[in-house]
Amino acid sequence: MGGVLITKSPMTTATDAEKEDLCLRCGLCCDGSLFSFLGIKPDEVARVEPRGLKVHARPDGRLALDLSRGCPGLSGKCCTLYGDRPQACRDYKCLLFMALEEGEVGLSEARSVVDETHATLAALHASPSPPSRQDAQRILRRHFLGRHRMD
Ligand code: SF4
Ligand code: SF4
Repeated sequence: MGGVLITKSPMTTATDAEKEDLCLRCGLCCDGSLFSFLGIKPDEVARVEPRGLKVHARPDGRLALDLSRGCPGLSGKCCTLYGDRPQACRDYKCLLFMALEEGEVGLSEARSVVDETHATLAALHASPSPPSRQDAQRILRRHFLGRHRMD
């Protein structure tokens, strides 16, 4: 990925519609690209399992949803249980999202970063020697890592 840099500029902060536009174009924090697991609170299990999310206990006892093949709640790039989504999903903001939110990057530029990243990952996965998860993470780390999500 190259050419698109997040730079400080005197832009206004993003609207909710712009932030939603970006995430509905992206989905990288839900589709297994960024995270293998999503932490679930015990009192969230009864809410999310009827929506098709299978929660299991990790070796350390923490509850988690397996995201390695993408979240079962994801349809295209849209969360089908948005109003009932776990707290970890509500809390997650990647670097690009935060840059858009704070007006450090405009929607058009942020969308370009998403599109470039999807194109780069698709090309890598289509190559004769697909990248390891670590290789893909290196590509994603620049713009899409953030806080609060369990990997
Ligand atoms: S990785 Fe960032 S931009 Fe993409 S869907 Fe998640 S929060 Fe939104
Ligand atoms: S519940 Fe919704 S927001 Fe959370 S990982 Fe699944 S699709 Fe994404």
